[in-house]
Amino acid sequence: MENGSSNNALKPMDSEQLREYGHKMVDFIADYYKTIETFPVLSQVQPGYLQNLLPESAPDHPETVEQVLDDVKAKILPGITHWQSPSFFAYFPINGSVAGFLGEMLTAGLNTMSFSWVASPAATELEIIVLDWFAKLLNLPEQFQSKGNGGGVIQGSACEGILVVMIAAREKVLRSVGKKALEKLVVYSSDQTHSSLQKACQLAGIHLENCRVLKTDPSTNYALHPESLQEAVSQDLDAGLIPFFLCGTVGTTSSTTVDPLAALGKIAKSNEMWFHVDAAYAGSACICPEYRQYLDGVETADSFDMNAHKWLLTNFECSLLWVKDQSALTEALSTNPEYLKNKASQANLVVDYKDWQIALGRRFRSLKLWMVLRLYGAENLKSYIRNHIKLAKDFEQLVSKDPNFEVVTPRIFSLVCFRIAAVDNDEKKCNNLNRSLLDAVNSSGKLFISHTILSEKFVLRFAIGAPLTEEKHVMEAWKVIQEEASYLLSM
Ligand code: PLP
Repeated sequence: MENGSSNNALKPMDSEQLREYGHKMVDFIADYYKTIETFPVLSQVQPGYLQNLLPESAPDHPETVEQVLDDVKAKILPGITHWQSPSFFAYFPINGSVAGFLGEMLTAGLNTMSFSWVASPAATELEIIVLDWFAKLLNLPEQFQSKGNGGGVIQGSACEGILVVMIAAREKVLRSVGKKALEKLVVYSSDQTHSSLQKACQLAGIHLENCRVLKTDPSTNYALHPESLQEAVSQDLDAGLIPFFLCGTVGTTSSTTVDPLAALGKIAKSNEMWFHVDAAYAGSACICPEYRQYLDGVETADSFDMNAHKWLLTNFECSLLWVKDQSALTEALSTNPEYLKNKASQANLVVDYKDWQIALGRRFRSLKLWMVLRLYGAENLKSYIRNHIKLAKDFEQLVSKDPNFEVVTPRIFSLVCFRIAAVDNDEKKCNNLNRSLLDAVNSSGKLFISHTILSEKFVLRFAIGAPLTEEKHVMEAWKVIQEEASYLLSM
């Protein structure tokens, strides 16, 4: 029979093949997790390594899944930095779990496109329900829930979350002051705010000279001073500019500091600014009643974002954004082309999430969050967070007991900022030593940590939050850090 005849036609979704290959794939992934500790945590390959290992063009004829998996083992895994390794302590974690994985599988299996309610009613409705559940877990003010004007939506990332609320805020203010005022709009944040704010400004057409990056210092543990905000706002008003957007953070990227939300929110309100709270990493901890205090003042915010994909066992990506006034989003982001018109949307009976985000298309992401909440339950999620924070506390104690080291900022959640201490106030030498320590530790392959700069000090960040991390991994990591430091100090 000739190629292309019906007997040879490609059957890309054959149930029996899916069953067979699916079992093989799940076995492969389960084995990966079983042996994950045997890989160097930080990939040690050189740039361009893969070019030499793969053919120059795509195959003309089919290969088997076994052949592909053999290549994954031999060629792809060496180029993987193992974020799920129990010895991954860099940046902030991204969590996977069996529940999150199964949810992703189901999403891939159903493979829907849920841009509007009618395109898959369950996808929209489950998202609304699960985000309301989550708002209750975080004890967010009722205005963020879907009952009234508010509601939650799953974004791909906290960066997308901040961009869409900035565009909503921009449209709101320009509607009242006129479109030509764009160049007068001013954004406020601290020098600890995540770089996603800067990117949002670039994308939203806010001039970078109108971004006030307010300086912080150790006196407030690098939290934004309300007085500096007030002063900057007053100066801008005097200069005829229009303050319109403020970003506060709960758990900054460098050191997990918490901005004083209530005081900042008060200033935002009295100046009619949009107040966004970014709790991308630390928001997860706030489901525990003893950490909920760090969200105090969130009632003054217009929007709030946290990443379930960072520290809450929900596979990437799953960033939860809530707004108090959903019409601010839809008025800025709605489109209504003929080919998408339908009765439910026209009658305003439903949420169409395409109008709450950048893209039209969207994945059925609430399934995995629903799976996580149902298969683990809130109490287990709280214990999970508490365990990581306890491990971080233990690590902090180990560091503070060693005279060669110092803890640089007080630990709040599960990140410890530390360094080899300066000798004779020689900060330059100290920075170089810590840089060398970072390189030595990471090239050992035994663990992966990252760094930041605070008050010109090169600081090491040890972030606990990988799902497989246990006390023994923290202890082993500390041993490697101590040994490498002793070697460097003896040179
Ligand atoms: N905000 C904070 C405080 C972060 O730490 C991060 C990333 O680590 C982000 C925002 C960006 O998150 P995403 O990767 O989801 O855009």
